[in-house]
Amino acid sequence: MVIIENISETTEFLKNQIKNGKSIGFVPTMGALHQGHIALVEKAKLENDIVVCSIFVNPTQFNNPEDLKKYPRTLEEDCKMLQAAGCDLVFAPSAEEMYEETPVLRMDFGYLEQILEGKFRPGHFNGVGIVVSKLFNIVKPTKAYFGQKDLQQVAVVKRLVKDLSFDLELIVCDTIRENDGLAMSSRNRRLGSSAREVAPKIFESLLIGQKYLFEGLNVEETKQKVVEWYENSPEFTLEYYEIVEADTLNPIEKKPEGQKTAIVIAAFLDGVRLIDNIVF
Ligand code: AMP
Repeated sequence: MVIIENISETTEFLKNQIKNGKSIGFVPTMGALHQGHIALVEKAKLENDIVVCSIFVNPTQFNNPEDLKKYPRTLEEDCKMLQAAGCDLVFAPSAEEMYEETPVLRMDFGYLEQILEGKFRPGHFNGVGIVVSKLFNIVKPTKAYFGQKDLQQVAVVKRLVKDLSFDLELIVCDTIRENDGLAMSSRNRRLGSSAREVAPKIFESLLIGQKYLFEGLNVEETKQKVVEWYENSPEFTLEYYEIVEADTLNPIEKKPEGQKTAIVIAAFLDGVRLIDNIVF
């Protein structure tokens, strides 16, 4: 496995692979890797000749400077995990390497920008859109792997690929969870031990919502019951709990027949912002 910090060396390495007819599987990450990331790498390994993983804590997608400062950085450990998973190239640029100049381009994803993560993290998807476009241009992947854990990011990247005609296939992978149900996240390592103990309640609240919908409650009634449940759990500060159509993220009033529904949540626990979702 090679580790490269430089854009031109990365493009040179990959140009040779592409010339030799190799397919390239790409897993973009912000590092502090866990089994969720590794599952993407393993899937990419099965489906491609060469696997590239990028590790870049992208400053332009953080609307909260404190969150950026506290974001865990564990490059050495990450590289060990990637090597064991069969990754071929780690692209780990500095912010200066990625942004020689601050981009003047702005990306606006319309409706997707105004809801859920877009509403609570202004400018976040502009940062995601620009960095993902840059990474796609540098790596030129055959297939790119994203986790359903970031459901809205998947919707945004789908639009990006369509609107800019990126010649690649997007592969969306299931959320990998700890044994107690907590969705794996780089941010989990910032939770104190008592917060870590109650953290699985986030997933539990998604399953409770699903159960209410299956029992025939409408979306408003379900949301109201879950929000009340959170009001009795003072360790959490709920940012949003929404029930939407899974592909478009459009609002719904009740569970539609024959269409996928998603329940999505963002909540603060112990000062750490966690997100999760289920699709059914
Ligand atoms: P991040 O490093 O958090 O930006 O995540 C990099 C990629 O890994 C994104 O496509 C995420 O959706 C995906 N990912 C993060 N956590 C998980 C998880 N628990 N299960 C599956 N994929 C994940």
